[in-house]
Amino acid sequence: MAVSAGLIAEFKKLLGDQFVLTEETDRLSYAYDAAVLAQVVPALVVMPGTEEELGKTVGLAYENDLPITVRGAGTNLSGAVIPEKGGGIVILTVRLNRILEINREDLYAVVEPGALTADFAGAAAAEGLFYPPDPGSQAVSTLGGNVALNAGGLRGLKYGVTKDYLMGLEFFDHRGELVKTGSRTVKCATGYNLGGMMISSEGTLGVFSKLVFKLVPPPKASQAMMAVYDTVEGASETVAAVIAAHILPCTLEFLDQKCVRVVEADAKIGLPVDAAAILLIEVDGSHQGGVDEDARKVREICGKCGSEDIRVARNAEEKLKIWAARRNALPALARARPTTVLEDATVPRSKIPAMVRELNRIALKYKLQMGTFGHAGDGNLHPTILCDKRDAEEFGRVEEAVDEIFDVALKLQGTLSGEHGIGMAKAKWMEKETNRATVEFSKSLRRALDPKYLFNAGKKII
Ligand SMILES: Cc1cc2nc3c(=O)[nH]c(=O)nc-3n(C[C@H](O)[C@H](O)[C@H](O)COP(=O)(O)OP(=O)(O)OC[C@H]3O[C@@H](n4cnc5c(N)ncnc54)[C@H](O)[C@@H]3O)c2cc1C
Repeated sequence: MAVSAGLIAEFKKLLGDQFVLTEETDRLSYAYDAAVLAQVVPALVVMPGTEEELGKTVGLAYENDLPITVRGAGTNLSGAVIPEKGGGIVILTVRLNRILEINREDLYAVVEPGALTADFAGAAAAEGLFYPPDPGSQAVSTLGGNVALNAGGLRGLKYGVTKDYLMGLEFFDHRGELVKTGSRTVKCATGYNLGGMMISSEGTLGVFSKLVFKLVPPPKASQAMMAVYDTVEGASETVAAVIAAHILPCTLEFLDQKCVRVVEADAKIGLPVDAAAILLIEVDGSHQGGVDEDARKVREICGKCGSEDIRVARNAEEKLKIWAARRNALPALARARPTTVLEDATVPRSKIPAMVRELNRIALKYKLQMGTFGHAGDGNLHPTILCDKRDAEEFGRVEEAVDEIFDVALKLQGTLSGEHGIGMAKAKWMEKETNRATVEFSKSLRRALDPKYLFNAGKKII
């Protein structure tokens, strides 16, 4: 789809020449995201710098029938910012990155959607406050992307995910009109819960311009440990037993044997390569005494569930070493083969052993290299298939394996996505997890808010 010279001139007048990218070499960078899917080059890329410019950009694009893809950092893993076939316009939020307010008295912050997650968490920390959602991509991901995909992270079990911190937001609808919902108060029962609707909306219902987030006091003490298991069941029983003991670790992460071996070969940090699985656990709280007591109980549970090797971090350096195993999991896996397909199968916590067994079976059946890590406390596993997309025969097996992974996750009463969203990649399975009526209801909602079907077409609900 070509955009007329007249319309390009209008965008340039609105935003300034340098913020409207028309050259193909510039537009190419916005044809893909972190999902392994076919690229589509947008017809036009624009970078509004103010709320007013953003609203006018949305209105102008919609009025002129341009498919609209709003793009944060493009780190999503579901094809959520690959432009609609035919291109359309990509709206980048890179210049809308201001942290507008951090309120220490009322514990909230107001930010623009292009602000980076880690920059925001750092700015909150500098004010003595805590913004817990910590996706692995936080150094580069944007808060708008986090809200649109309801991003999770390592602290989900105790502290929740992005939706648990969104107090309010403002967004532009298809006419470029500003819609406001929520407030800066702890409670707000005014109007429909439009914020709840926009969480996980994946750019399909409107374009965020301002976000209000809750902040909390930071924990004052913590303790981290690694527990080593001969069986996956032992690791999984530990997760259930820790929660049954009413202890909520801030982080409870799982790595299977393949992951441990790949990370150790890559990072050489002394991981137990013969273990069937390891758990990385951190408890935190406001008093050292309480944290020590919780950590003692967790160690006891790990032991009862079969771990004979529990390594407790005695200082900050040892804590960093424990977390290096988790931090290195994806980079180490990604270095092993040219293509990394990172999936997001999530099951009830008690079904983790069954899911891991099934993942191992699927890897054998399709003769694929697969390692699994993830947020065990949330039942959120990331089976990661290492392959080479250029090898059509191998990639065909990968696609069949991914289909089977989601069939199994749904049979185990799990969900298609714990945190990566649906995007293009998983839209075809939506009815399988829900039902026809749910898909039709969602389509009606979408049609009402986007009558021309221009907001991120081809994603989420198709
Ligand atoms: C190495 C790696 C680790 C990751 N770890 C995690 C993890 O631990 N947890 C997790 O949840 N995810 C993780 N992700 C996935 C991804 O980083 C998150 O989903 C993140 O929230 C995407 O943010 P982004 O700025 O890159 O958004 P993008 O990819 O640019 O966009 C994502 C969606 O948000 C929409 N969007 C963006 N801005 C707006 C706006 N202003 N208004 C309306 N819609 C908008 C887009 O249209 C799109 O649908 C990881 C990804 C990578 C590559």
